[in-house]
Amino acid sequence: AKRNGRGRVSRYRAGMLEAAASRQTLEADLERALERAEFHLAYQPFLSLPDDRIIGFEALIRWEHPTRGLVPPPAFIPLSEETGQIVLIGKWVLETACREAATWAVHRHVAVNVSPVQLRSPLFLSHVTNALAQSGLAPSRLEIELTETAMVEDGTEVARVLRDLRTLGVKIAMDDFGTGYSSLAHLRDFPLDRIKIDRSFVMAAATDRHCMAVLTAITQMGKMLEIPTLAEGVETDEELALLRSLGCDAVQGYLIGRPGRLCAGVDDPWRHVAG
Ligand code: C2E
Ligand code: CA
Ligand code: CA
Ligand code: CA
Repeated sequence: AKRNGRGRVSRYRAGMLEAAASRQTLEADLERALERAEFHLAYQPFLSLPDDRIIGFEALIRWEHPTRGLVPPPAFIPLSEETGQIVLIGKWVLETACREAATWAVHRHVAVNVSPVQLRSPLFLSHVTNALAQSGLAPSRLEIELTETAMVEDGTEVARVLRDLRTLGVKIAMDDFGTGYSSLAHLRDFPLDRIKIDRSFVMAAATDRHCMAVLTAITQMGKMLEIPTLAEGVETDEELALLRSLGCDAVQGYLIGRPGRLCAGVDDPWRHVAG
């Protein structure tokens, strides 16, 4: 029994060492990813309701690793937040998204995800200003997506950054609404241009009475506060019909379009879409 026990322990320790080693390699790989141009952005469309127009796209980072293949954002964003690498990665995302969006039809917005770590960096505002200046993109076409966690941490400092963004003319959206803490306080304290309702409510609404109630309440609240709502992760016609009937202002999800490459003009599948 004793030997078995030791065997388990050493296997466990070997596992930990392996995890630490692969984390270190990933960190080193991440360090080189920017120089080697291994990142690109995939864009997922937003459809406005009830008029069914494509009003913009969310930029989602993609990492094509030379040996591992496509590494999904949840496998490297948290690590890059811990190491601080997210600040430079985020700078690249801002610059690339603004540069590419500047080639789209002028009414289309680009939404960029910003990590709480990035938001707290003293360099963040200059990264936004530079990305706008370099690309010539109208500031009102850039939308910054923040999660509630970003707003919780260090409230007053964040409020100042958000006001500065507002002064620049940049839009601010609250991402994954309903999944964090004290959402209602944020609606009161921060200037918001869009509420993005988390996919979990959309998914469960049809079968879960409580989720349906929350979804209804959020869309109603958006109307009363005059903040447009967007529902994330719409996958079925039934979900779309429900969101239409609730008066949700926009939708995003696989039903409308999967995230994809969107290059200037030639292979833009949305080029001919109304709006
Ligand atoms: P998010 O901001 O909530 O983005 C939505 C995620 O849901 C994306 O996953 C998208 O591909 C996926 N999605 C969209 N529609 C559907 C649908 O109908 N069904 C399902 N099942 N999924 C859908 P992705 O691209 O893997 O990104 C995951 C998360 O990684 C994002 O969640 C965001 O938090 C983070 N992320 C992505 N790109 C960036 C970035 O450039 N910077 C930062 N800081 N975070 C990013
Ligand atoms: Ca987002
Ligand atoms: Ca989201
Ligand atoms: Ca999410």
